Amino acid sequence: MTRALVLGAGIGGLSAAARLAHAGYDVQVHERLPRPGGRGNVIQRDGFRIDTGPSILLMRDIVEATFADVGADPADYVTIRRLDPAYKVFFADGARMEARVEREALKAELDQIEPGAGARFDDFAAIGDKLYRGAREHFVERNFRSLREMFGISNLPQFVSLRVYEPMHKLVGRHFKDPRLRQLFTFNAMYIGMNPFTAPAIYALLPYNDTVEGVHFTDGGMYGLVEGLVRLCRDLGVDVVCDHPATGVIQRGGRAAGLHFDDGDLEADLTLVNADWPWAQRRLLGREPRHPLGKKLRYGPSALNFYFGVRGDLGDLRAHNVVFGDDYEGNFSDVFAGRVHERPSYYVHVPTLADPSLAPDGHHIAYVLVPHSNSDAPIDWEHERDRVRDYVLTDLAAKGVDLRDRIVLEEVIDPPRWADEFSLDRGATFGLSHSVSQVGYLRPHNKDPHLRDLYYVGSSTHPGAGVPMVMLSARLVTERIVDEHPPARLGETVRA
Ligand SMILES: Cc1cc2nc3c(=O)[nH]c(=O)nc-3n(C[C@H](O)[C@H](O)[C@H](O)COP(=O)(O)OP(=O)(O)OC[C@H]3O[C@@H](n4cnc5c(N)ncnc54)[C@H](O)[C@@H]3O)c2cc1C
Repeated sequence: MTRALVLGAGIGGLSAAARLAHAGYDVQVHERLPRPGGRGNVIQRDGFRIDTGPSILLMRDIVEATFADVGADPADYVTIRRLDPAYKVFFADGARMEARVEREALKAELDQIEPGAGARFDDFAAIGDKLYRGAREHFVERNFRSLREMFGISNLPQFVSLRVYEPMHKLVGRHFKDPRLRQLFTFNAMYIGMNPFTAPAIYALLPYNDTVEGVHFTDGGMYGLVEGLVRLCRDLGVDVVCDHPATGVIQRGGRAAGLHFDDGDLEADLTLVNADWPWAQRRLLGREPRHPLGKKLRYGPSALNFYFGVRGDLGDLRAHNVVFGDDYEGNFSDVFAGRVHERPSYYVHVPTLADPSLAPDGHHIAYVLVPHSNSDAPIDWEHERDRVRDYVLTDLAAKGVDLRDRIVLEEVIDPPRWADEFSLDRGATFGLSHSVSQVGYLRPHNKDPHLRDLYYVGSSTHPGAGVPMVMLSARLVTERIVDEHPPARLGETVRA
């Protein structure tokens, strides 16, 4: 059989491993960390089980397809539920609202903030629907093998109809006048590490996704999905080996011939790298990461994450909560310019409201994510961690959720830790930026330009960051591998 080695058991690597095994390859996954999941890891201590990274699950159909496409019933591996409200929002002036999924309930919430906004939401959703379907069909769910495929005559009209030329905040501003609703419908750009003030309007598909398709939750938290993927891989005969870091890619005769490890080399017919793409270029291939057209690469931001195990309840927080600071635009300018922001917006996830089994009886989890500059910024992170922790806990207390005397477990991951422990170049939690100059054919390709038999899957490759996107990346790279490197059946000669 054709042997495929996958380097990294992130959600992208596991999804690709399952697809490759189903397609007939002999697959092994080698992971550096003690547990699979990559950024989607878990802190398990004192009866708490806390996700480290992704928490908002969008595009359920893509998640389910990862299982269904390999002949499995998704329900046998993961339980997915839609949350309503998708999230609760706390504005800086004290106003609060819920992003309801039920349309009439959402419209009523919007009308309370800006009379008439509810009726205008229908138009906004219709545009979001067009952007969402168009982006998936023309830019996201396909491999780009040449510049012409992306910018050719058949694809060019899509750049106009998908509003690649217009900033997202302008599109939102035409529908909603109240600055609070403008925040509500633009902050979602941060899901892929984009500044809402520079992101192109095509990313208005994200607030559409939240409020129309809905935010989903997997039982067991996001790690429940990782466990489902690991089980799927094992059921398909994939070996998932943890605590086994690769030290490099074997480069021989113009091709990748497998992986180097401290305890010996493993040869393979093809090698698929799931480790963060720029990190892998530097550390595993000994090259500077390069944009496909030689331009300067742009990195996304990072996050300062606090994980609290808390005794007692968490007031009227919902499973997902967005808390806006009082200088929304200044906040993002600072994040993207590598500066500290005094009163940042943040996000609080309380997964125990959706699945109480994630904490001991009478306890909850508060996962706090504060968008932040990446680890390249000249910031004293130790001081910043303490400062932001105090700010968030004091701010939450002012909103009626005082955790300060009830924290029984605490952990923090700052940008340097995202970089070092999770092998992310510059600690950029969402990988390379998704600016127009770094998407589609202009994002690092899923096939190496210099070495044959070397492929990539994950956030910094096409189509981009986020759980559903790396699952799509797995589908696209598998299609490419099957096309270029069809699996030999048992007994056939693999390589001439
Ligand atoms: C704080 C945070 C919040 C997020 N929130 C969301 C969200 O709400 N919703 C959403 O959809 N997405 C979210 N994301 C993004 C999402 O988590 C990622 O896009 C996705 O999980 C990335 O998966 P991946 O497979 O590309 O990479 P990774 O998860 O980075 O996996 C790569 C794997 O390669 C391994 N590796 C690296 N080097 C080696 C080596 N030398 N040898 C062996 N293995 C190696 C790493 O240890 C890692 O396990 C969030 C991310 C973070 C960090």
